[in-house]
Amino acid sequence: MIRIGHSTDIHRLEEGYRLIIGGVRIPHNKGSVGHSDGDCLLHTVCESLIGALALGDLGKLFPDTSEEFKGIDSSLLVRKVMNEVKKQGYKVINIDSTVFLENPKLRHYKQEMRENIAKLLEIDVNFVSVKATTGERVGIIGREEAIMTESVVLVEKVKL
Ligand SMILES: [Zn+2]
Repeated sequence: MIRIGHSTDIHRLEEGYRLIIGGVRIPHNKGSVGHSDGDCLLHTVCESLIGALALGDLGKLFPDTSEEFKGIDSSLLVRKVMNEVKKQGYKVINIDSTVFLENPKLRHYKQEMRENIAKLLEIDVNFVSVKATTGERVGIIGREEAIMTESVVLVEKVKL
């Protein structure tokens, strides 16, 4: 059996915060505001898997009121969700993501993001897509007020 999952996430961009996308620390004058490390891309990676298995949403599994998840490395959240994916007998087939960000440009970082995600999801990097687009200088993305991401994932049942 194959199941699909989808997720969208958005974080405010402000000075004085780190910009971490797909596990890659990117030097920039603004960073992503969040309860965890603010890694918008890993959040949709996580939540698309949660969606594929109909487990609720990211906030249900990792409440932003919880001290345990304050400042947490988002790759740990992905690992926790992957444990559940495997426990339920599924493996990931492929994932496709888009990052909406005006600045900086991500072309030099996308390969490292793909490799990080591939490792976390235990699949070959050729089954991980990370695309980047801007807000064409309009709206909250274009005015550099926010970063947004989307992910779609396919999982397949391999064990009963
Ligand atoms: Zn988030």
